[in-house]
Amino acid sequence: MKVVVVGAGLGGLGTALRLQGAGHDVTVLEQMAAPGGRASQIVDGRYRWDTGPSLLTMPWVMEETFAAAGLDFHDEVELTALEPYYRIHWAGEDRHLDFTSDRDAMRDELAKFSGRDALAFDGFLDALRPIYEEGILAAGRRSFDSPLSLAAFLPTLVKLGAALPLHTFVSRHFEDERIREAMGFHSLFIGGDPFRVPAIYGALVYLQFLDGVHYAKGGVYSVVEAMARHLDVRCGVRVDRIEHRGGRVRGVVTGDGAVIDADVVVWNGDAVRLDALLGTRPQLRTRRTTMSALLLYLGTDRQFPQLLHHTLMVGSGYKRFIKDVTARRQMPANYSTYIHAPSRTEPGMAPDGGDSIAILLPVPNLRSGDVWDAAQTDAISEAVVRDLEETFGVAGLRDATVVEHRMTPADFRDRLGAVDGNAFAIEPTLHQSAAFRVPNRHPRVRGVYAVGGGSHPGAGVPGVLFGAEVTAGLITADHPRPAHGRGSAAPRAKVTT
Ligand SMILES: Cc1cc2nc3c(=O)[nH]c(=O)nc-3n(C[C@H](O)[C@H](O)[C@H](O)COP(=O)(O)OP(=O)(O)OC[C@H]3O[C@@H](n4cnc5c(N)ncnc54)[C@H](O)[C@@H]3O)c2cc1C
Repeated sequence: MKVVVVGAGLGGLGTALRLQGAGHDVTVLEQMAAPGGRASQIVDGRYRWDTGPSLLTMPWVMEETFAAAGLDFHDEVELTALEPYYRIHWAGEDRHLDFTSDRDAMRDELAKFSGRDALAFDGFLDALRPIYEEGILAAGRRSFDSPLSLAAFLPTLVKLGAALPLHTFVSRHFEDERIREAMGFHSLFIGGDPFRVPAIYGALVYLQFLDGVHYAKGGVYSVVEAMARHLDVRCGVRVDRIEHRGGRVRGVVTGDGAVIDADVVVWNGDAVRLDALLGTRPQLRTRRTTMSALLLYLGTDRQFPQLLHHTLMVGSGYKRFIKDVTARRQMPANYSTYIHAPSRTEPGMAPDGGDSIAILLPVPNLRSGDVWDAAQTDAISEAVVRDLEETFGVAGLRDATVVEHRMTPADFRDRLGAVDGNAFAIEPTLHQSAAFRVPNRHPRVRGVYAVGGGSHPGAGVPGVLFGAEVTAGLITADHPRPAHGRGSAAPRAKVTT
């Protein structure tokens, strides 16, 4: 069976590996010059930055993805468990909070802010365990093809408190506002407003204490490379149309007019755009896209000891900041940023003594047709660096910067094809989850499937790889197994640009 996967994001690559492993003939078409999508890489001299994801969790999900293609993940990628996971600083606050796998040390960290909250930590993790098992593992690895399938799942969520807003759930366990912020911010990594998304996403903190937080040697991009080198990935090929007749897919039409026949097409581009490519009526209703992000990739000629491998800087007025970049959709007055400095763990990511620093600032998306021009990018970039210097003590950051790259909401829109320039696809709110998210199997055109951040179960590296498992499972169930059975992923290695 001939399968075309459109998009070489992690979800597309994961589905391709699984289907190739099941013996199908798979080609991946990617519009950009290299695979990876949000998980791309910028190289400038001896500086290297992951453009998007940097924090790897649930390593077993990657192991399973590779194993489905007959590959050993650990032969392909070298993982290091990080300790501590990350550090959180608050503006105007001398104390910081380190997240660490050591439970006693973690309680000591929490006790710096509240003795009562330190004692509440174990109970918090206990409350999250069933939410993780039901809301992440069980729900994330199955398809939801009807509202009825969600109806059967909702009572369990309600019983566990997982349908409450995440911040409300966290606040039932902790009294100190900084600890509430620290235990509930993780949904931001998949574009979820902690004050609105369901507490299912509280499980993102639980799974870190279960399986750790990891770094891949060479960055997350080494995972992309390891996947792509076993696949037929054709880069620089944009798909403009998905062809179908009589309710069945026939193939795709590329930007230069070429027609590529296929029995199955898997869409890994922005889920909101799938019906436009098919020319079909949009599924359900308007989808709310997530916030966007401004990313600064700085190469510095010295290191900043204040920065760990992962550091979060929380500006004053955190709740107002979240509301500004989501519901109010205006530039925030104070900044909360996440900073990745991988040369702490792998010195080779920057020249000797230097740092390759990626700074992520959540910003509003472009839903109202807002423009994002060079002058605005310059002004906000300078303000963010100044804020890090003056509010968070990263003194001399601007002067030490010798090379700089940026990624703006306009880049998310124009380079990745992300609707509204979203950074994380469709918002992971309750009414956009499970059966209400873009389904992995198109409801009207046979042979069309969707995988990636905007389809079920959602964004994040483990999320889109779960989506790959669900999607490949549906395809395998819908199409009889090829006569030659399970194939090997190994001989196909080809990435063309
Ligand atoms: C800044 C940032 C930080 C993040 N940090 C983390 C983190 O630390 N940990 C974590 O787990 N997750 C993180 N995430 C989320 C995670 O990176 C994403 O959810 C995941 O990588 C998205 O994968 P995807 O399969 O949806 O594909 P995408 O990365 O969205 O890729 C889709 C691909 O499809 C291609 N495409 C689109 N349209 C077409 C077309 N018409 N023809 C051909 N190709 C097309 C695009 O060019 C793109 O390459 C982060 C995301 C961002 C943006």
